[in-house]
Amino acid sequence: MTSIIATSDPESPQERVNLLGLSRPQMEQFFQQLGEKTFRAQQVLKWIHHAGVSDIDQMTNLGKGLREKLRGVAEIRPPEIVSQHDSSDGTRKWAIRVDGGGLVETVLIPDGSRATLCVSSQVGCSLDCSFCSTGKQGFQRDLSAAEIIGQVWLAIQSFDAFQSGKGRVVTNVVMMGMGEPLLNFDNVVSAMDLMMDDLAYGISKRRVTLSTSGVVPALDRLAKVSEASLAVSLHAPNDALRNQLVPINRKYPIAMLLESCRNYIDAQSDTKRVVTVEYTLIAGVNDQPQHARELALLLQDFPCKINLIPFNTFPQSDYRRPSGNAVSRFWQVLVDAGYIVTVRTTRGDDIDAACGQLVGEVVDRTRRSERYRSELQARENQVG
Ligand code: SAH
Ligand code: SF4
Repeated sequence: MTSIIATSDPESPQERVNLLGLSRPQMEQFFQQLGEKTFRAQQVLKWIHHAGVSDIDQMTNLGKGLREKLRGVAEIRPPEIVSQHDSSDGTRKWAIRVDGGGLVETVLIPDGSRATLCVSSQVGCSLDCSFCSTGKQGFQRDLSAAEIIGQVWLAIQSFDAFQSGKGRVVTNVVMMGMGEPLLNFDNVVSAMDLMMDDLAYGISKRRVTLSTSGVVPALDRLAKVSEASLAVSLHAPNDALRNQLVPINRKYPIAMLLESCRNYIDAQSDTKRVVTVEYTLIAGVNDQPQHARELALLLQDFPCKINLIPFNTFPQSDYRRPSGNAVSRFWQVLVDAGYIVTVRTTRGDDIDAACGQLVGEVVDRTRRSERYRSELQARENQVG
């Protein structure tokens, strides 16, 4: 059994364990290693994730001695919010600074009685899909489990909803922010366990969704340890086209990926689960009726629903968003073939919170506003 408590090194001060990221079994193991009863784990989980407490001294059902002992080896350290933007449509976006200085983004998208939190798993991404701004950033590092679950914690905290019990701020979570979640396997699984655990956020497994571009061996592993819902970023109906858009397809082609997805569904305890197939529509690239027909054939007998995402533009890309008509035509072919098809509406566009726009926005926004300022200056000079 590996130790969760860092062994003390006389040369350097002992690093405290961040309790925010420990799943229930890890928290129990932590208390065992501390020589304490495991029911303490349940109490602490509730303090952190139900009550939103980050100060060990506020955990009043732990004795004074235990609190002191805990303070010596542990802490509750959420990531730091750098900025918060509210869109006119109710979408809220945070830029979050993680240890070491990287920035990631989290977006909350309210929709009627639902509120979906889009959570990041890595700073940047190594997979370099041709239409994705995160891919253009390159990979910087994995987020820790605390930094991943911390995004849920911060979202609830920002509405002051731990204390006030103002109903549920986050009803659904999608691992669709920055990064490829399956390339940060252990931390993502621990964080998703907390999302679904009644001692933490208690969100139903159907409402916690992991989206992957298709890291097949990791997906096979996930089937053994998680019951979260699955979304897969397909984006093309054949390998030749998918190889161009999603380079990891050269390693794990479509047939292999769909088989792995099917195994994932089959491994779940409840029947009637389906995979969400995500398909980003890019004008003139993969949005033609023949692509839709090919997709309909490919997914015959595959347990899925299809989510079409009109491409969201960003400065470093020459791809274009398809017209509304092109999206409708594509949608119609699939509906006629008997599929359940949704079109993702763009939310939070005024704050660059749409899918694939989550580029290091702080940098980008600054650049854009600099460009804007210099254009203004140029115009003023002309007029003047
Ligand atoms: N790495 C994971 C999850 C993050 S991306 C994955 O690729 O699935 C979440 C979704 O947004 C994916 O389906 C991704 O392909 C899509 N996406 C990325 N960039 C986009 C863009 N510019 N416009 C529309 N969708 C995009
Ligand atoms: Fe990474 Fe997903 Fe973007 Fe591809 S689409 S580069 S896997 S974040």
